[in-house]
Amino acid sequence: MQPKQNIVHLPVYQPGKPIDEVKRELGLTDVIKLASNENPFGCSPKAKEAIASLLDQVSIYPDGGAVQLTEAVAAHLGVGTDQIIFGAGSDEVILMIARAFLVPGDETIMAAPTFPQYKHNAEIEGAVIVEVPVDADGKHDLKAMLAKVNERTKIVWICNPNNPTGTMNTDAEIRAFLDAVPKHVLVVLDEAYAEYNVSGQYPDSMKLLKDYENVISLRTFSKIYGLASLRIGYGVGRPNVIRSVNQVREPFNTTSFAQKAALAAIGDQAFIDSCREANTKGIRQLQAKFGELGLRSFEAHGNFVMVDVQRPGKPVFEALLRKGIIVRHDPSWGYPTMIRVTVGSEEQNSKFLAALEEVLSEVAVS
Ligand SMILES: *Cc1c(COP(=O)(O)O)cnc(C)c1O
Repeated sequence: MQPKQNIVHLPVYQPGKPIDEVKRELGLTDVIKLASNENPFGCSPKAKEAIASLLDQVSIYPDGGAVQLTEAVAAHLGVGTDQIIFGAGSDEVILMIARAFLVPGDETIMAAPTFPQYKHNAEIEGAVIVEVPVDADGKHDLKAMLAKVNERTKIVWICNPNNPTGTMNTDAEIRAFLDAVPKHVLVVLDEAYAEYNVSGQYPDSMKLLKDYENVISLRTFSKIYGLASLRIGYGVGRPNVIRSVNQVREPFNTTSFAQKAALAAIGDQAFIDSCREANTKGIRQLQAKFGELGLRSFEAHGNFVMVDVQRPGKPVFEALLRKGIIVRHDPSWGYPTMIRVTVGSEEQNSKFLAALEEVLSEVAVS
């Protein structure tokens, strides 16, 4: 047997450590996970009720077209029902976009570091990966990315805010990019953290969709909506783009539980507003202490902060783990002295900051 040549080198995805595993391995009872940008406040109680109401229907296939949810999300965003496609997380929408648009030899442009699934799925399709380093502030360097566009370019991926750096590109910057990029290029705006944004300069991608035919915005119910375990996210674009992605979609790619929970969750915007407010305070709480400790961090526009701990990030990550705090450090980011921490509840943030202060005195600056 011989698998596809372009996948044999691919790593199997390594997730952040699950809480139970950390408890078992380190003999801890109290563990806080601030590693995967999950919502520390869970999800709307209305979403939980929706899940419970479906327990008798486990044996029935879901609505493959997600009709009710499509209508609700379309109304929420002010777009047509033919402009939305759902996936098992926006991860699956990324996969479907790659599958629908990329053939071997096509070029695709992305930042480095950024969300790994663009590269992963593009490699599976045999596309040529063009990575453009983020600038010194951790932002997408859109001018440098534009300079890499040529007639072979099929897709440009813009992660906004960028995971892992947390930085964002403004509406004006994205519009300038879209004005210059040729129309044969699909521009994917991955906006997994859009609902957290309070900058006042964040792109209104529903307006962008009116002005530019070659844009698709990706959103998810995994982050501020707190439904990560159910796996549901979506793409919003012009009908012809959405149709192409729909043509490669599996028949029942999202579950009834996910659809019903998402429907209830989108109807509870008071919960979303309270999560956004707490997150904004949490970012201030973290950055204020980082400042006191003399640590520099990138601007944070999602629900996580990337901070320079001024010593190797791996031993800091490990020492925090021994204190029951799971954060993220990944050597492939190219920032050996940085860690990424999800904004938790005020209490979780305080525990993390106290642990970090102790760890900084234990791990030598090298
Ligand atoms: C978390 C995340 C996603 C995917 O989340 P799903 O759970 O698959 O919806 C997509 N993009 C970015 C940048 C993310 O951080």
